Amino acid sequence: MRTKLVVGNWKMNSGIEETKNFFENLIENSSLQNINHLMQVCICPPFTSLNTASQLLQNSTIALGAQDVSVNENGAFTGEVSISMLKELKCQFIIVGHSERRMYFKETDSLINKKAIKILEHKLTPIICVGETLEQREADETNEVIKEQINGVIENMSNEDLLKIVIAYEPVWAIGTGKNATSKQAEEVHLFIRKLLTIKSNINVSESISILYGGSVKPENAKELSEQENIDGFLVGGASLKVNSFISIIQSF
Ligand code: PEP
Repeated sequence: MRTKLVVGNWKMNSGIEETKNFFENLIENSSLQNINHLMQVCICPPFTSLNTASQLLQNSTIALGAQDVSVNENGAFTGEVSISMLKELKCQFIIVGHSERRMYFKETDSLINKKAIKILEHKLTPIICVGETLEQREADETNEVIKEQINGVIENMSNEDLLKIVIAYEPVWAIGTGKNATSKQAEEVHLFIRKLLTIKSNINVSESISILYGGSVKPENAKELSEQENIDGFLVGGASLKVNSFISIIQSF
Protein backbone atom coordinates (compact mmCIF):
# COMPACT_ATOMS: atom_id res chain seq x y z
CA MET A 1 0.00 0.00 0.00
CA ARG A 2 1.38 3.41 -0.98
CA THR A 3 1.98 6.02 1.70
CA LYS A 4 -0.46 8.90 1.51
CA LEU A 5 1.38 12.18 1.65
CA VAL A 6 0.10 15.75 1.91
CA VAL A 7 2.74 18.45 1.46
CA GLY A 8 2.30 22.16 2.04
CA ASN A 9 4.40 24.43 -0.18
CA TRP A 10 4.42 27.88 1.35
CA LYS A 11 6.44 29.40 -1.50
CA MET A 12 7.72 32.90 -0.56
CA ASN A 13 5.20 33.34 2.28
CA SER A 14 5.38 33.25 6.09
CA GLY A 15 8.30 34.70 7.95
CA ILE A 16 9.28 33.61 11.46
CA GLU A 17 6.28 35.07 13.31
CA GLU A 18 3.71 33.60 10.93
CA THR A 19 5.52 30.28 11.01
CA LYS A 20 5.37 30.21 14.82
CA ASN A 21 1.66 31.01 14.80
CA PHE A 22 0.91 28.37 12.19
CA PHE A 23 2.72 25.52 13.91
CA GLU A 24 1.45 26.40 17.37
CA ASN A 25 -2.10 26.29 16.00
CA LEU A 26 -1.48 23.16 13.93
CA ILE A 27 0.11 21.15 16.72
CA GLU A 28 -2.59 22.15 19.21
CA ASN A 29 -5.39 21.29 16.77
CA SER A 30 -7.18 18.21 18.03
CA SER A 31 -8.37 17.18 14.52
CA LEU A 32 -4.79 16.36 13.67
CA GLN A 33 -4.81 13.53 16.22
CA ASN A 34 -7.56 11.78 14.26
CA ILE A 35 -5.86 11.61 10.88
CA ASN A 36 -5.21 8.33 9.19
CA HIS A 37 -2.09 6.89 10.83
CA LEU A 38 -0.77 5.69 7.45
CA MET A 39 -0.54 9.22 6.28
CA GLN A 40 2.47 11.53 6.22
CA VAL A 41 2.16 15.29 6.43
CA CYS A 42 4.98 17.64 5.46
CA ILE A 43 5.35 21.42 5.36
CA CYS A 44 7.89 23.26 3.22
CA PRO A 45 8.35 26.80 4.56
CA PRO A 46 10.78 29.27 2.97
CA PHE A 47 14.46 28.75 3.91
CA THR A 48 14.49 31.54 6.50
CA SER A 49 11.62 29.94 8.45
CA LEU A 50 13.02 26.41 8.43
CA ASN A 51 14.92 26.72 11.70
CA THR A 52 11.86 27.99 13.56
CA ALA A 53 9.70 25.26 12.04
CA SER A 54 12.29 22.62 12.82
CA GLN A 55 12.34 23.56 16.51
CA LEU A 56 8.56 23.61 16.75
CA LEU A 57 8.26 20.21 15.07
CA GLN A 58 10.78 18.47 17.31
CA ASN A 59 8.28 16.13 18.96
CA SER A 60 5.84 15.97 16.11
CA THR A 61 5.14 13.43 13.37
CA ILE A 62 4.81 16.25 10.86
CA ALA A 63 7.81 16.27 8.56
CA LEU A 64 9.75 19.30 7.43
CA GLY A 65 10.66 19.92 3.81
CA ALA A 66 12.44 22.51 1.68
CA GLN A 67 11.25 24.07 -1.54
CA ASP A 68 14.51 23.65 -3.45
CA VAL A 69 18.20 22.89 -2.97
CA SER A 70 21.49 23.56 -4.69
CA VAL A 71 22.87 20.85 -6.93
CA ASN A 72 26.31 21.65 -5.44
CA GLU A 73 27.56 20.33 -2.13
CA ASN A 74 29.21 23.57 -0.90
CA GLY A 75 31.47 26.43 -1.96
CA ALA A 76 31.25 29.63 -3.97
CA PHE A 77 27.59 29.57 -5.03
CA THR A 78 26.15 32.85 -3.78
CA GLY A 79 22.54 32.61 -2.63
CA GLU A 80 22.39 28.82 -2.72
CA VAL A 81 21.50 26.41 0.11
CA SER A 82 23.10 22.95 0.29
CA ILE A 83 21.62 19.59 1.20
CA SER A 84 23.79 19.27 4.32
CA MET A 85 22.42 22.59 5.54
CA LEU A 86 18.88 21.27 5.08
CA LYS A 87 19.80 18.02 6.81
CA GLU A 88 21.08 19.97 9.80
CA LEU A 89 17.61 21.51 10.02
CA LYS A 90 16.07 18.01 9.92
CA CYS A 91 14.42 18.38 6.53
CA GLN A 92 13.22 15.04 5.22
CA PHE A 93 11.72 16.10 1.88
CA ILE A 94 12.91 18.50 -0.81
CA ILE A 95 10.73 19.75 -3.66
CA VAL A 96 12.58 19.93 -6.98
CA GLY A 97 11.45 21.10 -10.40
CA HIS A 98 8.46 23.12 -9.25
CA SER A 99 7.01 24.82 -12.34
CA GLU A 100 7.82 28.22 -10.84
CA ARG A 101 11.50 27.21 -10.74
CA ARG A 102 11.28 25.83 -14.26
CA MET A 103 9.56 28.99 -15.50
CA TYR A 104 11.32 31.82 -13.65
CA PHE A 105 14.72 30.24 -13.06
CA LYS A 106 14.93 28.19 -16.26
CA GLU A 107 15.48 24.88 -14.45
CA THR A 108 15.71 21.99 -16.89
CA ASP A 109 14.81 18.30 -16.52
CA SER A 110 18.53 17.55 -16.54
CA LEU A 111 19.26 19.90 -13.60
CA ILE A 112 16.20 18.61 -11.73
CA ASN A 113 17.44 15.05 -12.27
CA LYS A 114 20.88 15.94 -10.88
CA LYS A 115 19.30 17.58 -7.82
CA ALA A 116 17.05 14.57 -7.22
CA ILE A 117 19.99 12.16 -7.44
CA LYS A 118 22.00 14.30 -4.99
CA ILE A 119 19.04 14.31 -2.59
CA LEU A 120 18.83 10.51 -2.79
CA GLU A 121 22.58 10.21 -2.17
CA HIS A 122 21.99 12.11 1.06
CA LYS A 123 19.09 9.81 1.96
CA LEU A 124 16.39 12.46 1.81
CA THR A 125 13.26 12.27 -0.34
CA PRO A 126 12.94 14.35 -3.49
CA ILE A 127 9.44 15.44 -4.47
CA ILE A 128 9.89 15.82 -8.22
CA CYS A 129 7.37 18.04 -10.01
CA VAL A 130 6.15 17.68 -13.58
CA GLY A 131 3.25 19.27 -15.42
CA GLU A 132 2.09 20.74 -18.71
CA THR A 133 1.15 24.33 -19.52
CA LEU A 134 -2.29 25.35 -20.74
CA GLU A 135 -1.00 25.77 -24.31
CA GLN A 136 0.43 22.25 -24.23
CA ARG A 137 -2.83 20.79 -22.89
CA GLU A 138 -4.87 22.63 -25.48
CA ALA A 139 -2.55 21.42 -28.24
CA ASP A 140 -3.11 17.86 -27.00
CA GLU A 141 0.54 17.54 -26.01
CA THR A 142 0.05 16.63 -22.34
CA ASN A 143 1.23 13.03 -22.58
CA GLU A 144 4.18 13.92 -24.76
CA VAL A 145 5.31 16.67 -22.36
CA ILE A 146 4.83 14.49 -19.27
CA LYS A 147 6.71 11.62 -20.91
CA GLU A 148 9.67 13.84 -21.74
CA GLN A 149 9.73 15.35 -18.25
CA ILE A 150 9.39 12.03 -16.41
CA ASN A 151 12.06 10.32 -18.51
CA GLY A 152 14.34 13.33 -18.02
CA VAL A 153 13.92 13.69 -14.27
CA ILE A 154 14.40 9.99 -13.46
CA GLU A 155 17.34 9.39 -15.79
CA ASN A 156 20.10 7.21 -14.31
CA MET A 157 17.98 6.20 -11.33
CA SER A 158 18.05 2.56 -10.29
CA ASN A 159 14.91 0.72 -9.19
CA GLU A 160 16.14 1.18 -5.64
CA ASP A 161 16.32 4.96 -6.21
CA LEU A 162 12.86 5.03 -7.79
CA LEU A 163 11.39 3.41 -4.70
CA LYS A 164 12.52 6.45 -2.71
CA ILE A 165 11.18 9.27 -4.85
CA VAL A 166 7.85 11.06 -4.83
CA ILE A 167 6.39 12.51 -8.03
CA ALA A 168 4.06 15.50 -8.03
CA TYR A 169 1.87 16.08 -11.06
CA GLU A 170 1.10 19.79 -11.15
CA PRO A 171 -0.54 21.10 -14.30
CA VAL A 172 0.90 24.60 -14.63
CA TRP A 173 -2.50 26.04 -15.58
CA ALA A 174 -3.92 24.88 -12.25
CA ILE A 175 -1.23 26.30 -9.96
CA GLY A 176 -2.39 29.32 -8.01
CA THR A 177 -5.22 29.93 -10.48
CA GLY A 178 -8.10 28.55 -8.43
CA LYS A 179 -8.81 26.24 -11.40
CA ASN A 180 -7.97 22.65 -10.48
CA ALA A 181 -7.72 19.71 -12.86
CA THR A 182 -10.88 17.60 -12.63
CA SER A 183 -10.44 14.31 -10.83
CA LYS A 184 -10.76 12.56 -14.21
CA GLN A 185 -8.07 14.73 -15.84
CA ALA A 186 -5.73 14.26 -12.88
CA GLU A 187 -6.30 10.50 -12.64
CA GLU A 188 -5.61 10.07 -16.38
CA VAL A 189 -2.21 11.73 -16.07
CA HIS A 190 -1.35 9.94 -12.80
CA LEU A 191 -2.10 6.60 -14.45
CA PHE A 192 -0.02 7.60 -17.45
CA ILE A 193 2.89 8.53 -15.15
CA ARG A 194 2.61 5.16 -13.40
CA LYS A 195 2.75 3.40 -16.78
CA LEU A 196 5.87 5.37 -17.71
CA LEU A 197 7.44 4.38 -14.39
CA THR A 198 6.56 0.73 -15.07
CA ILE A 199 8.33 0.89 -18.43
CA LYS A 200 11.42 2.34 -16.73
CA SER A 201 11.39 -0.20 -13.88
CA ASN A 202 8.71 -2.81 -13.23
CA ILE A 203 5.16 -3.00 -11.90
CA ASN A 204 6.26 -3.63 -8.30
CA VAL A 205 8.38 -0.51 -8.28
CA SER A 206 5.89 1.73 -10.08
CA GLU A 207 3.05 0.59 -7.84
CA SER A 208 5.07 1.66 -4.80
CA ILE A 209 5.79 5.23 -5.90
CA SER A 210 3.55 7.93 -4.43
CA ILE A 211 2.23 10.35 -7.04
CA LEU A 212 0.83 13.59 -5.63
CA TYR A 213 -1.53 15.98 -7.36
CA GLY A 214 -0.97 19.73 -7.07
CA GLY A 215 -2.86 22.67 -8.50
CA SER A 216 -5.50 24.65 -6.58
CA VAL A 217 -6.27 21.85 -4.12
CA LYS A 218 -8.72 23.17 -1.54
CA PRO A 219 -11.07 21.67 1.04
CA GLU A 220 -13.90 21.78 -1.56
CA ASN A 221 -12.18 19.64 -4.20
CA ALA A 222 -9.82 17.49 -2.09
CA LYS A 223 -12.26 14.68 -1.34
CA GLU A 224 -13.08 13.85 -4.95
CA LEU A 225 -9.44 14.06 -6.04
CA SER A 226 -8.33 11.89 -3.09
CA GLU A 227 -10.72 9.12 -4.15
CA GLN A 228 -8.87 8.49 -7.43
CA GLU A 229 -6.91 5.27 -7.46
CA ASN A 230 -3.60 6.79 -8.56
CA ILE A 231 -3.71 9.99 -6.51
CA ASP A 232 -1.63 9.29 -3.43
CA GLY A 233 -1.60 12.72 -1.88
CA PHE A 234 -1.39 16.42 -2.60
CA LEU A 235 1.13 19.20 -3.02
CA VAL A 236 -0.76 22.21 -1.73
CA GLY A 237 0.21 25.86 -2.20
CA GLY A 238 -2.22 28.59 -1.12
CA ALA A 239 -4.51 26.39 0.99
CA SER A 240 -1.57 25.16 3.10
CA LEU A 241 -1.03 28.62 4.57
CA LYS A 242 -4.12 28.40 6.78
CA VAL A 243 -4.32 25.71 9.46
CA ASN A 244 -8.02 24.99 8.98
CA SER A 245 -7.94 24.55 5.22
CA PHE A 246 -4.76 22.49 5.39
CA ILE A 247 -6.22 20.15 8.02
CA SER A 248 -9.41 19.76 6.08
CA ILE A 249 -7.39 18.75 2.98
CA ILE A 250 -5.40 16.23 5.06
CA GLN A 251 -8.66 14.77 6.32
CA SER A 252 -9.88 14.06 2.79
CA PHE A 253 -7.76 10.89 2.79
C1 PEP B 1 2.02 24.63 -5.58
O1 PEP B 1 2.59 25.60 -5.12
O2 PEP B 1 2.68 23.63 -5.84
C2 PEP B 1 0.58 24.69 -5.81
C3 PEP B 1 -0.01 23.64 -6.28
O3 PEP B 1 -0.06 25.86 -5.50
P1 PEP B 1 -1.67 26.07 -5.34
O4 PEP B 1 -2.17 24.96 -4.47
O5 PEP B 1 -1.79 27.41 -4.70
O6 PEP B 1 -2.26 26.00 -6.71
